[in-house]
Amino acid sequence: MNKTKKSKKKYNIKRNPIVTMLGHVDHGKTSLLDSIRGTKVQCGEAGGITQSVRAHDIEYKKNNRETYHITFIDTPGHKAFSKMRSRGANVTDIVILVVAADDGVQPQTKEAIKYAKDAKVPIIVALNKIDLKGIKKSKILRELADEGVQVEKLGGDTLCIETSALKKTGLDDLLDAILLTAEMIPLRNKRPSKGIAEAVVLESTTDKFLGSISFCILKSGKLTKNAIYSYKDKHKKIRAIKDEKFCDLEEAQNSQPVWIAGFNEEIPVGTTVFFYKNASDIKSVKKVEKKKESIKQEEEELNEEILSDLIDSQNKKEESELNVILKSESRGTLEVAIKELEKLSNDETKIIIIEKGTGDISEDDIIKAKTSSGIVIGFKSNLSKKNEKISRIEKVLVKNYDIIYELLEEIAEVIESMKEPVFKKVEVARANIKKVFTLSDGSKVAGCSVMKGTILKGYKCYIERTENNKKQEIGEGKIISLKCRKDEIREAGKGTECGIQLSEDIDFKKDDSIVCFKLEKE
Ligand code: GDP
Repeated sequence: MNKTKKSKKKYNIKRNPIVTMLGHVDHGKTSLLDSIRGTKVQCGEAGGITQSVRAHDIEYKKNNRETYHITFIDTPGHKAFSKMRSRGANVTDIVILVVAADDGVQPQTKEAIKYAKDAKVPIIVALNKIDLKGIKKSKILRELADEGVQVEKLGGDTLCIETSALKKTGLDDLLDAILLTAEMIPLRNKRPSKGIAEAVVLESTTDKFLGSISFCILKSGKLTKNAIYSYKDKHKKIRAIKDEKFCDLEEAQNSQPVWIAGFNEEIPVGTTVFFYKNASDIKSVKKVEKKKESIKQEEEELNEEILSDLIDSQNKKEESELNVILKSESRGTLEVAIKELEKLSNDETKIIIIEKGTGDISEDDIIKAKTSSGIVIGFKSNLSKKNEKISRIEKVLVKNYDIIYELLEEIAEVIESMKEPVFKKVEVARANIKKVFTLSDGSKVAGCSVMKGTILKGYKCYIERTENNKKQEIGEGKIISLKCRKDEIREAGKGTECGIQLSEDIDFKKDDSIVCFKLEKE
């Protein structure tokens, strides 16, 4: 096997899903996690310093056959979740929204929904305490729907699992739902954006022997115990990697929650820390980063140019259409993308999928998009460097997404920008008509006094008439002549007496106003 194939394989393996339990206080988040931890093999046990460990690697043998790992983050509260998000660390792949069946949707349930939606993380509802008597399930499902969480039973696509942490029921169903949801999102052990590994800090503390130590989740790459960390322009070799039990590890990867020791300072929660093989790596990474940054900027500028050409051409049509060539890795993901994209069409702009298929984005796709003035969208597809270059030469917008939400968000933005822009008139100057003169050729001149702003020759304007205290517009034109006494002038400031001629033959009269305006997008 050659080197590139090897490294591709290393990075293309599926990553374990990282799950966070959120919900109202006392709805059973801790109990549910404890029950799962109690019934499933736990790859680590809390004790000593690890008492504060808030992430657990759970091993689950589905149908007593295949073994899966799920990383559960036991957040101390919603604040920690949003704090991590505010630092840009979207560490969670899936949110389990725990709702007590005897209490329904409560303020913190709503808050949790908002956090998950803002973070664009899929939600699985765990309807907990199902063992209690007299619960009103359908009422709760309706309450959830009111908050935008539509469960499958009500025609939505959110999975809802009935659980009892107390009786330990529904736990396997919940874990199955997690694995099913994980199938729909791109969980790959991606190549870190720089260095050999990338970890998000869940908490930091100081250990008597090890100094500054952080509990982290490995987001990408593979961390080895000789790695060098880089944070705030400082770098240093790490001292140790430890598992939840605080046992030394040689390496860590794949959503694994680990302690990393040897930081210079306590690293704030939610920080993403990058690790490198050695110090010279850091230097070369910085150089590459700079270059990448400038290429990215060039690409963005080009994409904007292509998009604005596309929008310009569409704006000339009554109803805009966005022609799309859609590619995806498998039939399943293709179906998902088609379904979601079709939902984005509206009365003014339609998405027309002129071609769809599975596999990589090909040169053929790019050429087809060019001839149909469309774009190529990939969902979990591949775009080779060669074809990326072709797309730039052909000036075709090719976008490849790994996450359906990102795809929908960006395409919705494109659709939004294709809408016929709505303009409003913003008044910039105004003159009152004191007298109307008729010239020998029959054209009319308004003898005015400028009441507001400065009137410029060439300004767009309309005539405003007030009758019975009601203002109305009666015709629109442009100022084609502006005179002060006999002289043609360019502008007339407030208080100036001037003669105004308009481009259109509007029947204005004394006491009307000439209102000059600019058009601004609404
Ligand atoms: P948290 O605040 O969401 O973490 O909620 P806890 O896990 O601390 O649970 C709050 C209370 O609800 C505790 O008294 C639990 O024993 C109880 N509880 C949790 N899950 C269940 C359940 O499935 N059934 C019943 N009957 N009680 C539960």
